[in-house]
Amino acid sequence: MMNPQTLSDNFGRNIDYLRISVTDRCDLRCVYCMPAKMRFTPRSEVLSIEEILRLGHIFTSLGVRKIRITGGEPLVREGIDKLCLGLSRMNSLRELVLTTNGSRLQQWAKPLADSGVQRLNISLDSLRPERFRAMTRVGNLMDVLKGIETAQQAGFERIKLNSIVMKGWNDDEVLDLVQFAVNEGVDLSFIEEMPMGAVEGNRVIRQMSNDVIRKIIATRYTLIDSLEQSGGPSRYVRMAQYPKLRIGFISPHSNPFCAQCNRVRLTATGRLLLCLAHEQSIDLRQKLRTPGQSDSLLQAAIQDSMQLKPRSHLFSTTEEVVSWRNMNATGG
Ligand code: SAM
Ligand code: SF4
Repeated sequence: MMNPQTLSDNFGRNIDYLRISVTDRCDLRCVYCMPAKMRFTPRSEVLSIEEILRLGHIFTSLGVRKIRITGGEPLVREGIDKLCLGLSRMNSLRELVLTTNGSRLQQWAKPLADSGVQRLNISLDSLRPERFRAMTRVGNLMDVLKGIETAQQAGFERIKLNSIVMKGWNDDEVLDLVQFAVNEGVDLSFIEEMPMGAVEGNRVIRQMSNDVIRKIIATRYTLIDSLEQSGGPSRYVRMAQYPKLRIGFISPHSNPFCAQCNRVRLTATGRLLLCLAHEQSIDLRQKLRTPGQSDSLLQAAIQDSMQLKPRSHLFSTTEEVVSWRNMNATGG
């Protein structure tokens, strides 16, 4: 019989990691994430902070030990500090972490650290202001660099940069990004672009394998494979010259991570997605907003939904669009 305090799927995987997208809105428009003209969800369809906190309680009662707050851009969501504080006070939660584009960290780094966020992932694809603007369509690199500086002072346990490298866009910046991470004393992960939602341009043509990125890094540094895990999809190496720093590779194409998948995603509209690239989901908003729906009924619905979790994402390098959901609506 299934242990009532845990979540497990049909493939023997234990689910203890929840990613919560708190909004699909964003102050940037990254070319790999969304089209230039993005339509966002009406606010009435987005879960309230109280609804997310209620679900946080239910998921932690079911064995979830790690929560990542993401989006869209989580720092454009009103009440983000209240949400983080409420989640961080949940007794059985071990890790509360957040992914941001960094543009508002000058204002938010300290309140987030004070609200119990332990680690930050900050997305940064280019160190050249004009290219940064082109990749984000509207972003200002200086805001992010100053945001990283502020975050360094705010008392997080660890900061990691996330970079997407695209051929013909920023593939000549791999070593610069590594050098920047070394100078800042932060970790760095490279994420292969995934076919999530329609965007302008051809993803297959600009696809850059992490195997190639690793070879570029190895031209300057001695790389040592590491077996360590951060509870997510990254595989890590250390550089002999800077052994404290980790370089991660999230490689859905060249090195799929599904066999160890321990995650599910809650979208801003309250859909519980069982896999980032499949549509299998349950509608938790509808259940939350049904009068008289008890926590134990919600618990049971979440446990049952685990049977819908697919074995793997089925991305391939030849496919254009696998999912019609863009990453901002999925919770990357
Ligand atoms: N706005 C925040 C940020 O950019 O960090 C959080 C949300 S964003 C969707 C989370 C991560 O997803 C970012 O690191 C971003 O680079 C990544 N991402 C967005 N679209 C992607 C795609 N099509 N394939 C792979 N990663 C993607
Ligand atoms: Fe916004 Fe993050 Fe998507 Fe860029 S990757 S458009 S910052 S949600």
